[in-house]
Amino acid sequence: MKVPATINTYCTKCNAHTEHTVTLYKKGKERGLAIGARRHERELHGYGGQKYPIQRNKAKTTDKKTLVLTCKKCGRKTMRSGVRLRKLEIIR
Ligand SMILES: [Zn+2]
Repeated sequence: MKVPATINTYCTKCNAHTEHTVTLYKKGKERGLAIGARRHERELHGYGGQKYPIQRNKAKTTDKKTLVLTCKKCGRKTMRSGVRLRKLEIIR
């Protein structure tokens, strides 16, 4: 799917339609000292193995692409819900 680099859409902070720059959402770096990471590490200690099943064979061949829209006026970032796609192209 092809997406334009700028979209005119609603901004929740400006309460109006403004120009937004479009970027693709990427997962951030995981912090080893975050509470969830510390708790998970603690749960793996001792007897009893993995606490939840790890999915090994996936059925889906595509993944959801989420768009991050940044308001050009105020800088507020909003996510646009992901659609399953093989390829997403942002056209400059
Ligand atoms: Zn705004």
